[in-house]
Amino acid sequence: MLPMKITEIRVHVLKSALAQPFAFSQGWVRQRSATLVEVLTDAGLIGWGEAFAQGLEPPEIAAAAIEHALKPLLLGANPLATEVLWHRMYHATRDYGRKGSVVAAISALDIALWDIAGKAYGVPIYALLGGAFRTRVAPYATGFYRIEGQGEAARLAAEAIEHSEAGFQMMKVKLGYGVADDIACMAAIGRAIEGRGIRLMVDTNHAYGRAEALRLGRALADYDLLWYEEPVAPEDLRGYAEMRDKLTMPIAGGENEHTLYGYRELLAAHALDIAQPDLGSCGGLSAARHITAQAQAHGVAVNPHVWGSAIAQAASLQLIAALPITHHALFAQGPVLEYDRSSHPFRQQLITQPIIQQGGWVQIPDGPGLGVEVDRAVLERYRA
Ligand code: CA
Repeated sequence: MLPMKITEIRVHVLKSALAQPFAFSQGWVRQRSATLVEVLTDAGLIGWGEAFAQGLEPPEIAAAAIEHALKPLLLGANPLATEVLWHRMYHATRDYGRKGSVVAAISALDIALWDIAGKAYGVPIYALLGGAFRTRVAPYATGFYRIEGQGEAARLAAEAIEHSEAGFQMMKVKLGYGVADDIACMAAIGRAIEGRGIRLMVDTNHAYGRAEALRLGRALADYDLLWYEEPVAPEDLRGYAEMRDKLTMPIAGGENEHTLYGYRELLAAHALDIAQPDLGSCGGLSAARHITAQAQAHGVAVNPHVWGSAIAQAASLQLIAALPITHHALFAQGPVLEYDRSSHPFRQQLITQPIIQQGGWVQIPDGPGLGVEVDRAVLERYRA
């Protein structure tokens, strides 16, 4: 291991008001926010990381965990000891962490350490994870947020055409606004995209209990869905298993679960067909490795949830490059990239070469570390 020390850790909390607030099933999103972290070393290398900030939680929680709880554990340590430092951070915060924003804070630092490691060895992170199974990934459009709440089927159908015209072959529809309204929206979208060869997924963000979640799933049985995401609350593991037993489409979830310990419960409960750890929330790249190995052993595919700024996007692409196929076959289904189509300044502006979809593909950056360069002027512009 190269000799090196962490000399400083800086947290950047960014905020930007949305011109048009929008809703998902759990609430209204009125601003974009991000908790970014920058880890500096005595070798002159800088690593970037990000803690998940969904839109509802204050980004200051993860920032405080980094500043007050985790930074003292890392200063002076060798940043290349990624696994050692992950366990140091997890064990030190166990009694008040394990889930939520504390693990998101660990995630941000862990991603930054892997960025430093890639830069130190002069390779992309995927090379350190064991190599690239793929150099590009097909993106799916995430969108279909609500402006009014209900009764927006016609607008959502028009939005589906926009995603299709922009080159997306897969789309994830946000549902969970009432089962009848959900069904009406899906019918309008289904009619609009007919004949275009588009695959749909749905995501209710755990809006329903088991009975309604099943009713919606049964009503959508003929849409050939790629998956049905977060049908019930993340704590309801038996509910997840019941969805898998009674519905025909694959069941996905896990963006609100954390670390190898949380995923152990999900996998043991046979809750998932597709595991969706979020790199900014699950514990970072180190935790994603633990989770991927567990999922592989359980015959469950991993397809990361992707939210947040360009840093989280870049980290997700590195993981996606290195994800093994779970159900191997000549024409196996590989992971796809969640690509949020709503407006997000920390995504388009934060790095000098934004991550974009071209011709139905997103290329995986192959520069050292995360393979992206942060524009510091953007940090100043949106600093909270
Ligand atoms: Ca989701």
